[in-house]
Amino acid sequence: MNNKPLKILAIDDMPANLALLGLALQDEYQIQIATSGGKGLALALDDPPDLILLDIMMPDMDGYETCRRIRSNPLLRDIPIVFITALTDLEAEALGFSLGAADYLTKPLSVEIARLRIRNLLEREQLRRELQRREAEQRLAASVFAHTHDSVVITDSGNRIIDVNAAFTRITGYTRAEVLGKDPNILKSGRQSREFYKSMWQSLDTHDHWSGELWNRNKNGEIYAALTSISVVRDDKGSIHHYIGLSADITPIKNHEHDLERIAHFDPLTGIPNRVLLADRLAQAIAHTHRAGNHMAVCYLDLDGFKPVNDQYGHEVGDQLLIEISQRIRECLRAGDTVARIGGDEFVLLLLDFNDSRECEAVLERMLCKVAEPLTIADYAVAVSASLGLTLYPADLADADTLLRHADQAMYIAKQRGKNRYHLFDQELNRIAQIRGETLARIEIALANNEFVLHFQPKVNMRRGIVLGAEALIRWQHPELGLLPPAAFLPDIEGTELVIALGNWVLTSALDHLESWQNIGLDIVISINIAPRHLLHHDFVETLQAGFAGHPQLRPGCLELEILETAALEDIGRVTTVMKECQKMGVGFALDDFGTGYSSLTYLKALPAETLKIDQSFIRDILGDPEDLAIVAGIINLTAAFHRQVIAEGVETEEHGSLLLKLGCDNAQGYGIARPMPAADLPAWIANWLTNQEWLKKSALPSPSETGLEQESPLK
Ligand code: C2E
Ligand code: MG
Ligand code: MG
Repeated sequence: MNNKPLKILAIDDMPANLALLGLALQDEYQIQIATSGGKGLALALDDPPDLILLDIMMPDMDGYETCRRIRSNPLLRDIPIVFITALTDLEAEALGFSLGAADYLTKPLSVEIARLRIRNLLEREQLRRELQRREAEQRLAASVFAHTHDSVVITDSGNRIIDVNAAFTRITGYTRAEVLGKDPNILKSGRQSREFYKSMWQSLDTHDHWSGELWNRNKNGEIYAALTSISVVRDDKGSIHHYIGLSADITPIKNHEHDLERIAHFDPLTGIPNRVLLADRLAQAIAHTHRAGNHMAVCYLDLDGFKPVNDQYGHEVGDQLLIEISQRIRECLRAGDTVARIGGDEFVLLLLDFNDSRECEAVLERMLCKVAEPLTIADYAVAVSASLGLTLYPADLADADTLLRHADQAMYIAKQRGKNRYHLFDQELNRIAQIRGETLARIEIALANNEFVLHFQPKVNMRRGIVLGAEALIRWQHPELGLLPPAAFLPDIEGTELVIALGNWVLTSALDHLESWQNIGLDIVISINIAPRHLLHHDFVETLQAGFAGHPQLRPGCLELEILETAALEDIGRVTTVMKECQKMGVGFALDDFGTGYSSLTYLKALPAETLKIDQSFIRDILGDPEDLAIVAGIINLTAAFHRQVIAEGVETEEHGSLLLKLGCDNAQGYGIARPMPAADLPAWIANWLTNQEWLKKSALPSPSETGLEQESPLK
């Protein structure tokens, strides 16, 4: 309540009448004076007073009229009015009361009596207003109780129901009469634990309040969800007077939540878990397997032949098929297992708690049979099968994502091996693949860091004592491991795109060297080794052209490409085309490691290589092995017959050279002449090389090659 003094409005045409009274009251009340009925009304409307003293006898508008007007104004209607009059006749008094006067004061005013009466009146008015307010409050409370959509239960301090509202009856099905005196636990569904209720009562005891969700049971036995809030009402002394429980029926919201949950976690078509729920289950399964100390399989299942069914018979049939298949898979699983659909026709299975892989394989075999059984959908007979990849945990001690990836990889192998089968992920193979991946990455870095170098091994004509050129051989100047031979890294990149990148580097680097040597007057042929994949790469010819364009001063014919005989046979038509394109640019070809392949004479004849390079494995043993000698002699004769050049590689000793000269092969390369050397050493080596005296002696004898066939590089 505010402490502002109560306000009294005095309306009298002769305020002097009131002067004494005003003086007496002004300590206690705020006094306002108006000298006519009209002015009094205006003041009252402006700021309604708590009491009005009203003179009856006034010119213009008398007290009665003023009273009538006050009473007819809703804003002022309830303000108590005290008439001040000299009149003492009863009739006038009656008229005043009938107009709603609260009291009369007669002139001459006794200040003391007037003060008491006014005080009484104001007190009564105060009480009346309080009563009115409470009544209104109660009416409001009652209407809230009666009309609220939420159920209200009021219980006594012993938690016996003393009242419920209509919403309670609507929600629970119990009438008021049925529940009066009962404990609200008649609604108990059994879904909440004893602990749950214990903590609810604890909260009521300590905080006088509890709120939460309850699963209740209505009179028909149906379960519903109630968002409930319970408050303790205490009396002045603090003891519990009663409890008020408010509940809203949130079953529809709960159902909706449930639907959302389903949508978020289950595949709408088949009703089985989706990728999101799978992630959850997989994490749980890993933890469980870990605890239980047994095994689990993570399987990736992809249908074989699903797309044709979908394309041929339409999506409806495809959908039906997926539903049926997921059902079949489920039938093969045990209670704790999971099957999830993670894509069109892709499923993931988690098979838990088995002792060894055989147990699991038995399940998968059953599943494969089951999936492959033919079925009829919309009168169409359809059949699919499944390819399954699996990995076993904890044998494959990986995280969830990796397990799935491993199962997926295994599934691809199952597909490659003919479908309708399962394949177990091989950890060892994976490890090797991983290491290979790391090696490849390292080689890529090496390429970027310029860690590769070319060494050069001279090729000579033993008979004439001249240097024909040199073969470029790649080395890796590894920062930690030192100089690595090609055997240490080339096998790793075989079959990858790196072959092309590295091959292009060799090409450019060889052309750079050639150019710098030509600039110092050293005119030699450099041969480089070309990997089959590189040669057959779609832009090999363009790359070569670009290489020459970047070195415009190079003499045509200074480059020779060594290709493996075996590679040439892979796609002889295409190889021939590429070779011819290159030859147009003046590039020569040698068939490397000749004799190790299975080339038929027809193929050999078709290939436009100018030179054959006899493989070092034959050369090595010609001194002691008559068979190898026969082969080498045969190849030399063959080249003569086909009008090709021949060169022997692996010439390690003087004797090798002598024998080769005798057989008619004048060109040679090998440790016996020079080991591969850094590019910087080559010019000096060439300048200082003198051919072997023994060979010169042998050369004095007529050579089969001198029967008309040119034996040196055609470019020299
Ligand atoms: P390749 O083309 O047959 O090269 C001849 C190999 O025999 C070279 O080994 C050479 O050092 C070795 N060699 C030469 N003379 C003798 C000898 O008298 N005795 C013995 N025991 N060996 C001799 P390298 O440099 O280790 O190269 C091995 C193979 O790697 C090469 O065989 C070639 O196929 C490949 N290669 C080398 N460099 C490249 C390249 O830049 N690109 C490609 N694609 N392959 C290359
Ligand atoms: Mg070679
Ligand atoms: Mg070779």
